[in-house]
Amino acid sequence: YSSKRLTTPYTLYDLTLENNAVEKVNISASLKRAVEQQEFELWYQPIIHLNDNSLYGVEALIRWPRADGSYTSPSVFIHIAEQTTLINQITDWVLQQVSKDIVYFESLGLALCIHINLSAKDLQDPKLIDKTSSLLNGNLTSQKIMFEITESAMMTNVEQAKMAMAQITATGGTFSIDDFGTGFSSLELLRDLPVKQIKIDRSFISNIHHKDADLAIVKSVIFLSQHLNCAVVAEGVEQIETVDLLKSLGCDLAQGYYYSRPIQITNFDSFIKKSVA
Ligand code: C2E
Ligand code: MG
Ligand code: MG
Ligand code: MG
Repeated sequence: YSSKRLTTPYTLYDLTLENNAVEKVNISASLKRAVEQQEFELWYQPIIHLNDNSLYGVEALIRWPRADGSYTSPSVFIHIAEQTTLINQITDWVLQQVSKDIVYFESLGLALCIHINLSAKDLQDPKLIDKTSSLLNGNLTSQKIMFEITESAMMTNVEQAKMAMAQITATGGTFSIDDFGTGFSSLELLRDLPVKQIKIDRSFISNIHHKDADLAIVKSVIFLSQHLNCAVVAEGVEQIETVDLLKSLGCDLAQGYYYSRPIQITNFDSFIKKSVA
């Protein structure tokens, strides 16, 4: 088997591609149904203040359950949805779900910042501002809303992004650059777009103890953020050593499995009780 594998790598490669293509068609078809039937769940992952370990907010992360109880990963289906207008319908559902869940977050008596991921196509959607402003004008009393956008989504059409972001900013929303460092990391974006926060991608955080280059990049992004008056979040924090190092570097916020995986809103209560105890 292994020698066959060595002599015909291209056959195996093609097969994978083919399977991926078939899988993609399958997912696209069931995704359409999932959107119509609202088969999604919205989970939340805590984001923590590094200085005092208090809860700063949560990131809303979509979940698509299968019949057997497992989940199709959003890193698979969001990418497929982004190739069609299904992504806009998914974002509509997320915004509506957050406006329902906010009632619960309000009831906790905490002032949280709720993060929502937006795609490039959302920034091109002329109805986006209406949809976000109905959320921003709705049930919000102590809760704030921040939208996460990747560098490449902002770059897709900078002028359009700038306009949409300015409109949303005027209605009380704020913006964070997601997965910072993995896109084009244009300093022009940081200068010209109304960004209040930078999220350093997990790929720089996970090797921060072993790779000098990653440490240098993280230090520089923290320094840059501070001088731009942006808050800075470390994504993918899994170990206490990383927490300590990030604290010593002056990083503001952290998110990752060390604190909590994304959880269902029904489990949030016990997360809070556990973390306060
Ligand atoms: P993202 O916005 O960068 O979200 C962070 C991802 O990192 C989440 O994956 C989260 O579960 C994962 N993560 C958090 N902490 C850790 C950690 O310590 N270790 C590791 N290994 N992973 C960690 P998830 O939920 O699978 O989402 C993947 C991506 O799918 C998101 O990346 C985002 O780009 C997209 N996505 C998820 N929900 C939505 C949504 O509602 N709308 C849109 N447009 N995109 C979404
Ligand atoms: Mg995100
Ligand atoms: Mg991210
Ligand atoms: Mg990501």
